[in-house]
Amino acid sequence: MKAAIVPGKNQKWEIKELPVPKPGPNQVLMKIHASGICYTDVHQTEGMLPGPFPRVLGHEPVGEIVEIGVGVNSRKTGDRVGVPWVQITCGRCEWCLRGKPMFCPNQQSTGVQFSGGHAEYMLAQADATMLIPDQVSYEQAAPIFCAGYTVWSGLRWADPKPHERIAVLGIGGLGHLALQYAHAAGFETIALSHSPDKDDPIRSFGADEIVRDGEGLLKAGGADIILSTTNSNEAMLESLKGMRPDGRFVVMGLDTRPIQFSFADLIPKRIKIIGSQQNGREYLFEALDIVAKGKVKVVTEIFSFEDIHHAYEKVKNGKIRFRAVVAM
Ligand SMILES: [Zn+2]
Ligand SMILES: [Zn+2]
Repeated sequence: MKAAIVPGKNQKWEIKELPVPKPGPNQVLMKIHASGICYTDVHQTEGMLPGPFPRVLGHEPVGEIVEIGVGVNSRKTGDRVGVPWVQITCGRCEWCLRGKPMFCPNQQSTGVQFSGGHAEYMLAQADATMLIPDQVSYEQAAPIFCAGYTVWSGLRWADPKPHERIAVLGIGGLGHLALQYAHAAGFETIALSHSPDKDDPIRSFGADEIVRDGEGLLKAGGADIILSTTNSNEAMLESLKGMRPDGRFVVMGLDTRPIQFSFADLIPKRIKIIGSQQNGREYLFEALDIVAKGKVKVVTEIFSFEDIHHAYEKVKNGKIRFRAVVAM
C-alpha cells in the first residue's frame, strides 16, 4: 500500500510503499477513502507535539472496513467508519475509572502511536471507530472526526443558554464549522474575521453579523461565548474586549508561542477561560448527526493522494480557506 511518511522532524513527507497491515485482536483494517489534513499535522511534522519519527500522520481518517481481527463483534466488513484522535486508554487510571478517558495519561492516538490515515489502509481499534451515517459522504465525514468534533464539543462544553450570543474567532477549518453548528443549534452567531474576502462564505455559514475584532464585537453588543479557533495569541487576547459579563472564552486553537497576559482583565466581567478538546463520544455522534441532517456542510478542497505534499504545503502556508481533504 502507499503511505505518506514523515521521515523525521521538519522533513518533507514522502510517499512510500508499505505492506498492508494485518488487524490484531480487537482491531479492524480500514481501506481509507478520505483523510483530512489539520493544522495539527503541521505542529506534528515540525516536532512541536510529541510523537516518534518516521510515522504516518492523519487523524481525520474515514473509510470502509475490509478485514476484522479476532474478538471484534460490533463492527463488520463493509461498515463505513472513521476514527478520532484517541484509540486506546489504559482503563486503569483514575480518569479511565471515572469514565473520562480523554484525561488518561497513557493514551494511544491516531497518527501518533497508531499509524494515521494518510495511507491506503490503516489499522484501528474496533471500539474507537464510529459508524458514519449513510447520508454523509466520506469527504464530508473526514473533517468531522477532528475539526467538527472539536468545535461541537467546545460549544457544548461552554453550556450555551437560549438567547445567548456566540462569536467564532478565526473562520478557517474549525471556525467555518463552529459558525454553522452554532447557527444550526439556533443561536445568534457573530463571526470575528479579519479578512473581508471571506464575508460572502461567512454569511452562507449562517453568521448574523461579521465584525473585524474584539472592539467591533463590543460595539455590536458583545458575545456570551467566544469559540476561539485561531492560532494567534494576539487575536485571542484582543477578542476578549468583546466578551459580555459572565462570558466564556473557549480555547480550541493552539499558538505554541508564550503569551503575556494579565488575569486582572477577567475579574470585572467574571470571564471564564475554558480549555476544550474532544470532550466525549456523544459529541462526535451529535456532530456527525447534524451533518447527516444537512445542517452543516464542510467546505473542502479535495486533493488526490499523489498530491498530498502539495496539500500539506497549502495547509502549512495558510492557503487553504477551510478544509483540505485527501480523497483516495
Ligand atoms: Zn486535528
Ligand atoms: Zn487511563
